Amino acid sequence: MIEKTDFSETNAERIVGPVLTEEDADIEFSLRPKRLSEYIGQENVKSNMSVYIEAARSRGENLDHVLLYGPPGLGKTTLAGIIANEMGSNIKIISGPAIEKPGDLAGLLTGLQDGDVLFVDEIHRLSRQVEEVLYPAMEDYVLDIMIGKGASVQSIRVDLNHFTLVGATTRAGQLTGPLRDRFGIVMRLELYSEKELTEIIQRSAVIMAIPCEKEGAIELARRSRGTPRIANRLLKRVRDFAEVMGDGRITKEMADIALGRLDIDKLGLDSLDRRLLTMIIKGYGGGPVGLETLASALGEESVTLEDVCEPYLMQLGFISRTPRGRCATDLAYKHLGMLREGQQRLD
Ligand code: ADP
Repeated sequence: MIEKTDFSETNAERIVGPVLTEEDADIEFSLRPKRLSEYIGQENVKSNMSVYIEAARSRGENLDHVLLYGPPGLGKTTLAGIIANEMGSNIKIISGPAIEKPGDLAGLLTGLQDGDVLFVDEIHRLSRQVEEVLYPAMEDYVLDIMIGKGASVQSIRVDLNHFTLVGATTRAGQLTGPLRDRFGIVMRLELYSEKELTEIIQRSAVIMAIPCEKEGAIELARRSRGTPRIANRLLKRVRDFAEVMGDGRITKEMADIALGRLDIDKLGLDSLDRRLLTMIIKGYGGGPVGLETLASALGEESVTLEDVCEPYLMQLGFISRTPRGRCATDLAYKHLGMLREGQQRLD
C-alpha cells in the first residue's frame, strides 16, 4: 500500500528544479525502480543496504530505522519503497509538515503492522511535540498517551507493532540530536554521475516508449544537474520537441535544440543558477558573500539556493563555501565568459 504525500511549491516552476511537481508524480510511480538491483548508482548505499536487509531478513527481524539525506530528487522515496519491497512489507508515505499534531502521528503509528515501513519525508520539519512522540515509538515501540486534564492527567502506554521508520531530509544537520541518534542506519545520497544518469534516462525511455539514441541520452544526462528527477523531467520535455520538430527520436541534436529552447545551458545551469553566479561576481566582486544577503538580492528563499542551486554548483566547482560566505571560482568566471577585476582577456 502506498499513500502519498503533499507537493511542495518551492521551485515548482523551474524545469530544472528538483522538487516534486504534480506532473512528475503521475509518471514517477511507473518509473520508480522497485528492487535494489534496478536502482542505478549510489553503489555504497546499495551495497550496505543489501547487507542490512539480508541480515534483518535472515534473523527474521525488522530493519533498523533508516535516515536518508541528500538534495531533493536523488531517490530517497524510491529507496524507501525498495526497502519495503525487499523486506516484503507495506509502506506508508507522509511528509513531515503534514503531521501537524501528536495525535496525527499516534494515529499513523497505531495503524502500522509488524514490519511495515513508515516513510517520513522532510523529517526535519516535524514539530517538537510530534518529535517527542516519535522517540519512545522508535526506541521501544510504545506510545505514551496523556488523558485527562490538570491534576487528574494520566499517562497510558500503548504497545506498537515493530515498524521501520525511514526518514528523509535534505541535510542531516537540520535534525535535532535526539532524533538523529535514534536512527541505526544513516546514509547520504550523492549527486549522480553522467554515466549513471544516462542509464536512468535510457531505462525511463524504454518504460515510456520514447525512442532515444544513446548520444541523446548522454546529452540529457550531462544537463540534468546530477539528479534523476530532473533527468526524467527533461526526457519528457524533450520528447515534446522531438515529436513536434523532428521524427520523434531524441538525438543529440534534438536534445541540444530543445534544452536550448528551455534555457538550460551546456552544463545544465538555468537562469537562476546564472543569476546567482552573476550576482556573486558583479554584485559582490566574486565574494565572499553571505547566503542570506545573496537570497535577498535575488529575491529567492535561502533554502532554495542552499538545497537546490548550491550542491550542483559546488559539484561543478563553480562556487566555494568559506566561513565568510560564498565565492565564485575561476571556473565560474570562465563559464560565464567574465573576467575578474584587473584580469585581462588573453585571447
Ligand atoms: P527524492 O525522494 O530523493 O526526492 P525520488 O525517490 O522521488 O527522490 O526520485 C525521483 C525520481 O527519480 C523517481 O521517480 C525515480 O524514477 C528516479 N530515480 C531516483 N533514483 C533513481 C535510481 N537510483 N535509479 C533509477 N531511477 C531513480
